Amino acid sequence: MMFSGILEEMTVDDVRTLAPEVVVLPIGSTEPHGPHLPYGTDFFTADGICRRAVPLANQKGGRVLMYPGLPIGNNVNFKAFPFACRIGVQTLIHVVNDILAAIEEEGIRKIVIVNVHGGNTDTLHAALREHHDRQPHDPARRRSFVCMVGATEFASSKALACIEHPSSHAGEKETVLMMALKPDLVRPDRFDDFPVRVPIVPSLAAGKGHHVRPWHELMPMSAGGETRKSNREKGERIVESSVAGLAAFLVELSNSPWSPSFPFAPRESA
Ligand SMILES: [Zn+2]
Repeated sequence: MMFSGILEEMTVDDVRTLAPEVVVLPIGSTEPHGPHLPYGTDFFTADGICRRAVPLANQKGGRVLMYPGLPIGNNVNFKAFPFACRIGVQTLIHVVNDILAAIEEEGIRKIVIVNVHGGNTDTLHAALREHHDRQPHDPARRRSFVCMVGATEFASSKALACIEHPSSHAGEKETVLMMALKPDLVRPDRFDDFPVRVPIVPSLAAGKGHHVRPWHELMPMSAGGETRKSNREKGERIVESSVAGLAAFLVELSNSPWSPSFPFAPRESA
């Protein structure tokens, strides 16, 4: 019997029979995405790509389980907009590490976080450092390997080339993804060229340095860039390629034998 691998849809007997080798944890955000996209855009993208990739990975011989996703992340710089849902930076590190520990207690050695919200990225990198720090001193007793990826990270460059106007938030790419994944929630009548402001300090405007950008200053409409070239066909192309690529990665992980050296080859002494 084939299982989807989507935990919420399975029974306890299904989960025991699947005996997963890899667990996937989607993480998004619930926040404004301009006048044309829903608050759930980031979560719907993480969840939607995983809901397609995990069953495909299982069809292709993987043993992969999709954990329920987190729809709330870090939004320290969105406070000028209404209901940009958020938990604290340190809270997210704790929540992720609690979830990773619970997954490890099930005997899972390989865990993949699929993150779709840029505001989570630095925190999740820190959470992975924290997780590594919590592993036992003795390398032979290492509990798990955790890898973070983006939902469209495995899409081919050919599929991604259909995006004519790149943007970091609620632009053409996120719009076409929603047109493919949640078409009823997109408002094509509101598509526009949404303003993106540039710092007055030339080196910062050129992308040098790192600073947390107040989003209402950067994108006063809570969306940025030209979206009028968005269509569902572009979204379906990117979704299909992302799903195929992520599923292939999950099968690779599932089929690669665990050792405390993972993802490197076991050493003679181990
Ligand atoms: Zn977004």
